[in-house]
Amino acid sequence: MSNLEADPREILCGPGGGDGDGGEVLEGRAVPLGGPRAMTVTRTLPHVRRRMIGAWCFVDAYGPEQAEMRVAPHPHTGLQTVSWLVAGEVLHRDSLGSLRAIRPGSLNLMTAGRGISHSEESRLGLLHGVQLWVALPGPHRRVAPGFEHHATLPVLSGAGYTATVFMGALGGVRSPATAYSPLVGAEILVAGDAEIPLDPAYEHGLLPLDGDVAPLRPGPLRYVPPGRDGVRLSGNGRVLLIGGEPFAEEIVMWWNFVGRDHDEIAAFRKEWMEGDGFGEVRGYDGAPLPAPVLPATRLKARGRVR
Ligand code: MN
Repeated sequence: MSNLEADPREILCGPGGGDGDGGEVLEGRAVPLGGPRAMTVTRTLPHVRRRMIGAWCFVDAYGPEQAEMRVAPHPHTGLQTVSWLVAGEVLHRDSLGSLRAIRPGSLNLMTAGRGISHSEESRLGLLHGVQLWVALPGPHRRVAPGFEHHATLPVLSGAGYTATVFMGALGGVRSPATAYSPLVGAEILVAGDAEIPLDPAYEHGLLPLDGDVAPLRPGPLRYVPPGRDGVRLSGNGRVLLIGGEPFAEEIVMWWNFVGRDHDEIAAFRKEWMEGDGFGEVRGYDGAPLPAPVLPATRLKARGRVR
């Protein structure tokens, strides 16, 4: 998925605050996505108070709703896109020639590295899922672009829960997907009372996807700071867990690019607009997305919290 905002801010803002029991709650904000039956997504990262959780730097949740997604070819740099569905089907095409539908329970992982372009589209139907980005750490941020589809993913089970681990590791269960920093991404089905093991070196985020799981409530992303070796969840429902070692580097996120300074982002933008460096997405019925105009002020690299 793409950041389709016409005027993307360097830092995206949303309200936020505690929820009364000490948990830090990151309220999402509604962002329109393109398409003939345009969807609205709920963006909880980046947040005004917290830009990243581990290397995770972008969390969009959408649906469940009847929708048709059409995101025209657009570029990415310096990140991985992680596509995870609860319902529906989305077709991915990229400039490497990849053509792959994603369905619930399987992972589409695209490593942009030094540059890639892709499109995403679905037929009209029930859609429900998340689009996540992982920032690549400095030594790996210019890796060759790649695409992986994982139809079979490992599962961690315990009392009251079953977790499908799609990125990194959870409780010693490791996803086969390529990752470049210590992190976790998992979908947890909760049925009853569960204690999910956490890596105390990681910070985490919990986003309910469906059902009713305490202490979460629909909408916001709950932040769990480092130092916790578990989190208790109870109820019946589906929860997204993301986490990782706090990301030490300052980054610039602008439109669909992750870089390290203004000039680098400006160069990425120029290359995309000149049709250079990002290949070509074949088979998509429509024109590529133009990049927005850069802001008048210079973009600044920023850390994981404000
Ligand atoms: Mn995208």
